[in-house]
Amino acid sequence: MAICEILTYPDPALREIAQTVDNPQSESVRQLVQDLADSMYDAPGVGLAAPQIGVFLRVVVTDTRWREEDGIRDLHVWINPEISHFEGEVVFEEGCLSVPGIYEDIKRASAITLSWSDQDGSRHEANFNDFQAVALQHEFDHLVGKLFIDLLPPIKQKLLKKRLQKRKKQALTG
Ligand SMILES: [Zn+2]
Repeated sequence: MAICEILTYPDPALREIAQTVDNPQSESVRQLVQDLADSMYDAPGVGLAAPQIGVFLRVVVTDTRWREEDGIRDLHVWINPEISHFEGEVVFEEGCLSVPGIYEDIKRASAITLSWSDQDGSRHEANFNDFQAVALQHEFDHLVGKLFIDLLPPIKQKLLKKRLQKRKKQALTG
């Protein structure tokens, strides 16, 4: 079991583009999935993308139910995910383990069609909606160096980023 440090804004590593996984069945990917799951449950969060622990591969774990259902775990692993269709609109209050303490209403597609590989290397396709669709869009944005605060209106975004940068500086010096 390895709980990894989760990188926080404005760490430039959060802006890196993750690479496609060549072999989902490899031991190194199995270990990465385990580290992501351990770190997500420890945080605790409902999703974690590999770049958030400084690994630039297209791997995400989610469990959007365990905190509501008496701690019963329902881990999902998404390797090389691709969203092929976005539909509708929904607003959820989002937070992020890489932007601690900030919660903002974010507008995203309410339904998505997604394909992904599992840990055996098989490819799947399915539709997701509402909270699960939102959580997946949030996590997959991390694979292209995007954070949920980038989706805020420009003025709000500017103020918030300034505040977060200041907070980081204080944390480093104080
Ligand atoms: Zn996040």
